[in-house]
Amino acid sequence: MTGASHRIVGMAAGFSLAAFTSTEIWQYPLFIMLGGLGALLPDVDHRKSHAGQIIPLISIPLSWFFEHRGITHSATFVVFCVFLMQTYYPNQAWIYAILIGYVSHIFSDMLTAKGVRLFWPLKSRIGIPLITTGNTGESFIVALIVAGLIMYPYHNQIIKIING
Ligand SMILES: [Zn+2]
Repeated sequence: MTGASHRIVGMAAGFSLAAFTSTEIWQYPLFIMLGGLGALLPDVDHRKSHAGQIIPLISIPLSWFFEHRGITHSATFVVFCVFLMQTYYPNQAWIYAILIGYVSHIFSDMLTAKGVRLFWPLKSRIGIPLITTGNTGESFIVALIVAGLIMYPYHNQIIKIING
């Protein structure tokens, strides 16, 4: 997936979280922005990625020791982050906006043939080859995911409207 696709899916995930947590309307832009930011972070393990270029101090040693789509793309790391967040920033919804963007990136990379090492340090890669990075299929699937993320918090209202 391209960086732009990751960013837009992350932003939609941030919106969805804001809607689900009944965040006040003025906080929506913050959640959307943090979701988009979180969605760029997993690729810090790749020096040429957007995140890798912004924070080379992290990306250079990471790319020395770990392969791309390894530890930073794993559920293991996400669980570790949740533990840290609950310890240091308990019940702060905004920090979960970063996390949901982060998770959206891992999920999106799982839709490509290369997959991710979801259960790092286990070596197996998990992925469904639905998307080839940069082709029209990617835009179509990204559009579906974004629409789903934006509409899902309102699914009850949408069902009511459809049923009349
Ligand atoms: Zn990635």
